[in-house]
Amino acid sequence: MNRNQIDWHPIIDEDKCVGCGLCVVTCGEKRNVFGFNLDTKKAVVLYPDNCMVGCDNCRVACLWNAISFPDSTQLKQFVGSLVSSGKISQELEMKIKS
Ligand code: SF4
Ligand code: SF4
Repeated sequence: MNRNQIDWHPIIDEDKCVGCGLCVVTCGEKRNVFGFNLDTKKAVVLYPDNCMVGCDNCRVACLWNAISFPDSTQLKQFVGSLVSSGKISQELEMKIKS
């Protein structure tokens, strides 16, 4: 499965966003998911597929509850299949050894 087949990314409610920029700072430059619209003074999602699957740090950081995510059912099924196939434990073992 490719990243663009997994529906996981922040969604900003423009009516709730006050433009504080906490989500932009929380996500950081490495992921580069967010941009900031200087005209509307609101955060925007520029590169949704850069979002780390399963992360929701920006949602937690947003004090105005302006960020939501797609339903996690598909994500849970996908991760569950990786767990039951043993792929996750193999990858963790390799990371621990490296
Ligand atoms: S943290 Fe929330 S309120 Fe602040 S810019 Fe991001 S979406 Fe908007
Ligand atoms: S969920 Fe995590 S990786 Fe995705 S945009 Fe928010 S902080 Fe960045």
